[in-house]
Amino acid sequence: MECPDYRSCQDRDFALKYIGMLPFEILKKPIAIGDMVDKVKKYGRSHDVEMVELAYEFADEAHKGQMRKTGEPYIIHPLKTAHLLATMRIDTSIVVAALLHDVPEDTNVTLEDIEKNFGPDIAAMVRGITKLGKLKYRGVKRYIENLRKMFVAMAEDIRVMIIKFADRVHNLTTLDALPPKKRFRIALESLEIYAPIANRLGMGEFKSILEDLSFPHVHPREYEQVASIRETLLTGTESYLESVKENMRKELKDAGVNFLDVHGRKKSLYSLYQKILRKGWDISQIYDVVAVRIIVKDIGDCYAALGVIHKLWRPLKGRIKDYISQPKPNGYQSLHTTVFCIQGRIVEFQIRDEAMHSTAEYGIASHWHYDERGGKKQGKDILWAKELAEIQKDVLGKLKDLDELKIDFFKTRIFVFTPQGDVIDLPEDATPVDFAYHIHTDVGNHCNGAKVNEQLVSLDTQLKSGDIVEIIMDKNRKGPSPDWLKSVKTQIAKNRIKAALKTQKNWLHFILPGDRKM
Ligand code: MN
Repeated sequence: MECPDYRSCQDRDFALKYIGMLPFEILKKPIAIGDMVDKVKKYGRSHDVEMVELAYEFADEAHKGQMRKTGEPYIIHPLKTAHLLATMRIDTSIVVAALLHDVPEDTNVTLEDIEKNFGPDIAAMVRGITKLGKLKYRGVKRYIENLRKMFVAMAEDIRVMIIKFADRVHNLTTLDALPPKKRFRIALESLEIYAPIANRLGMGEFKSILEDLSFPHVHPREYEQVASIRETLLTGTESYLESVKENMRKELKDAGVNFLDVHGRKKSLYSLYQKILRKGWDISQIYDVVAVRIIVKDIGDCYAALGVIHKLWRPLKGRIKDYISQPKPNGYQSLHTTVFCIQGRIVEFQIRDEAMHSTAEYGIASHWHYDERGGKKQGKDILWAKELAEIQKDVLGKLKDLDELKIDFFKTRIFVFTPQGDVIDLPEDATPVDFAYHIHTDVGNHCNGAKVNEQLVSLDTQLKSGDIVEIIMDKNRKGPSPDWLKSVKTQIAKNRIKAALKTQKNWLHFILPGDRKM
């Protein structure tokens, strides 16, 4: 048997029932629509269940005859994507959109058809996913941060990101059907773009799954090494941890601490890899391959549980972390402590209440997560528009700490590509001329035409996020046209056009007959 992870230990059923967590193994299991409807029935209203069934029929009909690279019928993919979200007890409107997410891209059915059948809100989510599908990461390191921002900007709606994460998780489980190059690109993109965004939004569950599914495809050798290190470190810990957990439950009970669960959590392979790198491959410094996690009723119980642990076992110096009073930037809250536990062995404990736990697993997504009682965190009837605006602000605020940009950055910027895949960010409605001057003054001054997505366009065309822009240059061109000033949006283009026109004028003046002094 494996280690005492909640996914394989006896606490698992409790953990699943309690928070509807996402077990790794469901990703590979074959499922049918019935399985998903059962999941949705546990938290959705009967009307929602009907919508899910309708969406499945609609998508099944639309994808009829299509196959995936794996040889399976196409519908398996949206079904599994939606099933993942239903397992996480995510709002059924998001589950419905997940079922429909590849319909407009791959079939004859249009977004208008979806809107007619499922309404504007679902259609908007599907439109968002289709748009995001165009974004590709080609492994240019210095543009990573821009690409992450671009992803968030293009998604516009956090719900779209949640679906996209689930979509990507399923795609990662079927990578073996793809050619090596594509496999690597998708895995790398998941590791360097998707997982860090999930992390910053506090979606710990998605972050770990995205990372651990991508890891073997991006760093196969390191993956093998880390997996075997983890096996070694875990050997013989199972019965030991059982006794620690049992002891813990008894002590918490005796002390009158309201606890809901005590379970083991195994460190994910990719985060273990990151830690090993930080410690310079000194394995002896790694204490948290397994941690014991205690879920309690409220904040008071968190500190009470910490007291119980420290009364029993001596804590290691400098390893008590209070993320409750000082949450991590992504909202993560917990108490961590590492102690000399039974037989003097070093064990890490993590303590949190149920709300903190839900936030740690789902982050932003917990706004659409139903708990065991069938209630949403924020109450049932939400003013979507208002809440979305607030959450979006919250998200942007979280991403902001990594750059000095303003909160409204995402609303007013677009991101476009060079033909080489580099990302250039520009203000909304910027033109190919803005793009040209952004690259280099010479490119701007000699700009003679432009292609957007391989189509010739006029130079006053307004660019959109995701466009691939190619500038056609004419070395013999004398300089910019004064007309460009009417359509450009960036100050930099305006200044350079004016400067070039000025020298042009001086030059013209200089070469006027009579003035010629050669
Ligand atoms: Mn898809």
